Amino acid sequence: MWFFTSPRTIVFGEGALEYLKELEGKKVFIVTDKNLRKLGIVDKVVEQLKETGMEIRIFDKVEPEPSKQTIERGAKILSEFGADWIIGLGGGSCMDAAKAMWVLYERPDLTIEDITPFEKLNLRKKARLINIPTTSGTGADVTWAVVITDAERKVKLELASKEVVADISILDPALVLDLPPKLTADTGMDALVQAIEAYTVQWKNDFSDALALRAIQLIFKYLPRAYKNGKNDPEAREKMHNAATMSGLAFSNSQIGIVHALGHSLGAVFKIPHGRSVAVFLPYVMEYNLSEAVSLYAEIAEAIGITDGSNEEKARRLIEAVRKLMREIEEPLSIKEMGIPREDFEVKLNELIEKANESTGTIVNPRVPTEEDYRKLFLYAYEGKSVDF
Ligand SMILES: [Zn+2]
Repeated sequence: MWFFTSPRTIVFGEGALEYLKELEGKKVFIVTDKNLRKLGIVDKVVEQLKETGMEIRIFDKVEPEPSKQTIERGAKILSEFGADWIIGLGGGSCMDAAKAMWVLYERPDLTIEDITPFEKLNLRKKARLINIPTTSGTGADVTWAVVITDAERKVKLELASKEVVADISILDPALVLDLPPKLTADTGMDALVQAIEAYTVQWKNDFSDALALRAIQLIFKYLPRAYKNGKNDPEAREKMHNAATMSGLAFSNSQIGIVHALGHSLGAVFKIPHGRSVAVFLPYVMEYNLSEAVSLYAEIAEAIGITDGSNEEKARRLIEAVRKLMREIEEPLSIKEMGIPREDFEVKLNELIEKANESTGTIVNPRVPTEEDYRKLFLYAYEGKSVDF
């Protein structure tokens, strides 16, 4: 038995934010960060909400990789305020923070660590959740994962519950028009990695496949345009915004693989933004997976117009196309290019391998790596050497 989980409503396209005007309720609580407030994005949301007559409270203290302590602080304010709508506004951090605060608000008897697939949360007795992403990449607006850092114990809590999937996701391209090029590239690559992994992991299914393939097509076509043209290409911005959420739906309903295992590990050890740290591994892992996933890569290749040759040839040309895309949007193609000195990298190698090996991506990847495989993948990706094992 399988489940497909998604928000009940996804509002997208020009003017999507206006949907907020139709909300009914007494109080709305916005979870966001200081930067978005400075950029005027919070104002855009508030402007729409004012028409509902609801009382509005803003919590703008979410930091990148939000801490458990911040969540608890926000949940306390939320409980005193007593909202019937919660809005996660921002990148993955703000939306994950909103999910976690919502749980603590509904269930003061629970702790953050109780957000697991095995705990019945019984949410939606007090409030419902709306996510409004302001980057085009993570897909956190539609996923059931919640990534929180325990700052005291210095560990990342990887929490998840199907019940924390938002009720409504609002994809308004106006909110991503001004994304800086680097952020466009990093987050766009994250969406591509998620979609390619969703299409190739062992838990793939018909529903996730459809979303993954379409997301991949859109990203190959529109990411270079969004990167180069920025706000002068609203079509590319809109398509990338949709593609990111489709990629989120795809992997949230299948799984991620070892590109994320390697990337999470590198990102945690060397403090590299999520999108960039996963992107760098994508071509190497595709080469590594070829022996198990060649026909799946050939299907992806066909979807983006690579139709000549054997499956093996198509798959290899797809990997070339990934490298070409990364060059076009100036993403580093090796860890060395990221500016990490070799000595520092070698000192941390065992820790990197250990962290990657703990990820769930390891067991559902089309080819399940040994520790030795992980070691080689890290070293090949460091040097920028094509995988031959
Ligand atoms: Zn990701």
